[in-house]
Amino acid sequence: MITKSEIDALTSYPPSDSPVVSFYISLDPHERAEKTTLTELKNLLKTGQEEMARWPEKDHVKIALNLARIEEIVENERGGQSRGLAIFAGEKIWQIYHLPLSAGQRVVIDRTPYVKPLIQVFRRHPRYCAVLVDKERARLFIVQMSEIQDYSIVLSEVPKHHEQGGWAQSRLQRRHDDYVMHHLKRSAELSFDFFQHEGFDYLLIGGTDELTSAFYERLHTYLQERVVGFLPISTSASVHDVLEQTLEVMQEVEARLHRELLEKLQEETGQGRLGVTGLSATLRAINAYKVQHLLLEEGYQTAGGRCSDCGNLTVRTTGNCRYCQGKIERVDKLIGEAVELAYNQGAQVHFIEANQVLWDMERIGALLRYA
Ligand SMILES: [Zn+2]
Repeated sequence: MITKSEIDALTSYPPSDSPVVSFYISLDPHERAEKTTLTELKNLLKTGQEEMARWPEKDHVKIALNLARIEEIVENERGGQSRGLAIFAGEKIWQIYHLPLSAGQRVVIDRTPYVKPLIQVFRRHPRYCAVLVDKERARLFIVQMSEIQDYSIVLSEVPKHHEQGGWAQSRLQRRHDDYVMHHLKRSAELSFDFFQHEGFDYLLIGGTDELTSAFYERLHTYLQERVVGFLPISTSASVHDVLEQTLEVMQEVEARLHRELLEKLQEETGQGRLGVTGLSATLRAINAYKVQHLLLEEGYQTAGGRCSDCGNLTVRTTGNCRYCQGKIERVDKLIGEAVELAYNQGAQVHFIEANQVLWDMERIGALLRYA
């Protein structure tokens, strides 16, 4: 799993004098012909060699060696679990990311890693945190893109209560209850620290009713707002079980959220206020930085154009910009560009399974911050 810290480290990589090869390839296990990956690999390596020619001769061997290492890795990864690879290879960096879905096909040689496709994959999939609590322990997991990472080590443990019977039983019991509450408080605090470092969109709490509600009460309000469900699951559950249960809740949460957003969009467009539907109107809202939620059909893509001067997007592929008269240049993946622009203005983007309501809105729409 890619972590936020890794993304942060990649984006803040200091420009170096020597070249960094960034290499993205899809490894779709459903692909009938394994040849597809091999053909793609050859094409990418060829592009890599062409890019190499633009660098000073002293760098050629370094680049060629990295391309050769990448070739070997991709060949070994074929037929494995991953759907995609992102590889960054340079003098001070050598990293391979196994992705549960493709981040496209691309090779870039530059002074810094080219991380945009990786960030896109990372951003468009909500991150769920699951915290499991009992009286003595707490465990923490992140689930994203159907992968799970165990972060239990982040949370503390309290001293155990083993004493049995004796004159001080009731006092010990009280002390133990204090321990439990202290433990929950501490776990809640650490969960918040974790949130600040690693970030996540939604939180699930697992445990008994009594403990999960006590834990919930001790959470920072930022985190309380992110709680979307409770799991009847014990701290001794296997990582596999935590993943299964979390994925189940995630599906429900997403379906509910999408339903609510579509209803809200219908309402807002009906009243002609804070909602727009259809590609042209949605692009205008994105160009104007008004979008709070962008809703679109999963897999929707079409060509369009971008103004070479002001960067505004349009459904047209030629002509002049309606804002600044600049020249419109064709872009093949207009929707991808629109999503990127929406992210950059802090909008939340929701990729929704095809349905009639969305179809009637011409497959895309947006809820706006202001009219
Ligand atoms: Zn323009």
